Amino acid sequence: MKYNLTKLAVIFLTAELYASLYASTIYPIDRAQMLRDGRFDFKVEFDKKIKNSDFKVLINGKNYKEIFKNQGEFIENEDNLNVSSLVVKDVSIAKEGSYKVEVIVDGKTDKVNWQVYAPALKPKAKNVILFIGDGLSVAHRTGARILSKGISEGKANGRLTVDDFPYMAFIGTSGTDSIATDSANSMSAYMTGHKSAVNAMGVYVSRAKNSLNHPKQETLGELIRRTSCKSLGIVSDAELEDATPAAVVAHTRRRADKNEIVGMLYGVKPDVLLGGGSAYFLPQSMPGSKRKDEINYIDKFKQDGYMFVTDAVSLKEAKSKSDKLLGLFHLGNMDGVLDRQIVKNDVTKKFPNQPDLTEMTSAALEVLSKNKNGFFLMVEGALIDKASHPLDWERAFYDTIMFDKSVSLAKEFAKTNPDTLIIVTGDHTHGISIIGTVDDNKQGADMREKVGVYADAGFTNYEDKNGDGYPDTPNVSKRLAVFFNNFPDYYETFRPKLDTQFVPAIQNEKGEYIANEAYKSVSGAVFRGGNIPRNTDTGVHSVDDMIVQAYGPGGEAIKGYMDNTQLFRVIVDALALGKSKK
Ligand SMILES: [Zn+2]
Repeated sequence: MKYNLTKLAVIFLTAELYASLYASTIYPIDRAQMLRDGRFDFKVEFDKKIKNSDFKVLINGKNYKEIFKNQGEFIENEDNLNVSSLVVKDVSIAKEGSYKVEVIVDGKTDKVNWQVYAPALKPKAKNVILFIGDGLSVAHRTGARILSKGISEGKANGRLTVDDFPYMAFIGTSGTDSIATDSANSMSAYMTGHKSAVNAMGVYVSRAKNSLNHPKQETLGELIRRTSCKSLGIVSDAELEDATPAAVVAHTRRRADKNEIVGMLYGVKPDVLLGGGSAYFLPQSMPGSKRKDEINYIDKFKQDGYMFVTDAVSLKEAKSKSDKLLGLFHLGNMDGVLDRQIVKNDVTKKFPNQPDLTEMTSAALEVLSKNKNGFFLMVEGALIDKASHPLDWERAFYDTIMFDKSVSLAKEFAKTNPDTLIIVTGDHTHGISIIGTVDDNKQGADMREKVGVYADAGFTNYEDKNGDGYPDTPNVSKRLAVFFNNFPDYYETFRPKLDTQFVPAIQNEKGEYIANEAYKSVSGAVFRGGNIPRNTDTGVHSVDDMIVQAYGPGGEAIKGYMDNTQLFRVIVDALALGKSKK
């Protein structure tokens, strides 16, 4: 009996192996939606080594060569993996409609379906400004509103700019590989209309070994360049090679390919590029460089007619004089508003005169609006995410206020330029929530007892005496109680970290992240045993929906629940991209 069962298992296993030998994977994937004439790479991966004559690829019943006008390349032994692939690069589909793609090998057929849509007949907007608050969650917005505007008798004493944007939707952020996303594949969905996987942008993640050799899709940046005379701008307070700004133009399976990403930025040449990350623009022989070659991208941009600025003063001077502007204000990520403007600690001494997101947004709008054909501008508030990972919600909330101030500049611009669509969203959420207050004057044996919940929470006592929209200090006696739902081992201090951003966990000899003892001695600190794997240094992204809001013509397409890939079409339709050729 035992023997028979084993034999049966062997038969099943063999049958399954046998079946799987005939599987093929098709990119773009099933249910992909594409703009008519939008460019993409087509790839079929066969799960075994076959001959060029062994298979058929039909698109709506026709040989793929007829549809693509290109036979592509058959790779008999891809990456020496003993498997074959068909790759047809840089193709498009010339007519809108439904497409059934069939791959037939040895009598077995694999299928995917695509929808190809026509460009909008008429543009609704001349300009689109897309704001990405990286990691922006509901708590960030509630917290920014309370900190910036105050709240009394249960009613907000003021509103964030985004609060009055009329169009609103929930966005699903999951990728092809996982329900949990990162900034690369989520921004890639906005910028290509296709899903991707964690760490990838502008490509489907195939089995190719080389990170730059996966099937690509045209990015919004490239589409604007190819089909319009509009200007293109990218602003971020992260490194410009970081996932969100990079995804406007880049194609790679590895977001860490920052050397190559700068080359891709240079390839598309956005008219305005403002942010951090100069380390990857400088040749390797220069101090601070992280390049692996001697290319000086700052020189290359300058040779192409860009004005180059490195601080807030030169940025302000340059904006009226230039129509192509490169601003690099930090070797790495820029510093947040709490460090730079509020507590003015040592953190910002290295780069003392950085512009903030509002100054960069204002400069970008001034430069880009010189083009009478309009523009697309992406502004990323990156530090919301950079501070939320290490559970440093004060920094994240202050940067959310700064983010909203940048949105208000765009809304001001839209008053005199009503043909402007403004979209405000994030790329993924964090597991963050406001649950009440922490009151130093509340009776209690330790800090935990000073947490006020329900009626005990009452209201906070932040003050903004100088009226700049930011509380004068986050370190008041009755402050928000904010907790993350996922964390490594750490010490909860119930207090803001004024010297430098919180470092909740550090690595031990075994490579595991353990609570950073530096915070153990803070009066009343409580140890929290982590609830995520021990190789994780900080909190992680959440799968919760993202909120998107919009203001201006074309914004009415934003409603209900949307997949993140749909935002691409909202932008493309608003600008009627893909219709007129340059
Ligand atoms: Zn993140």
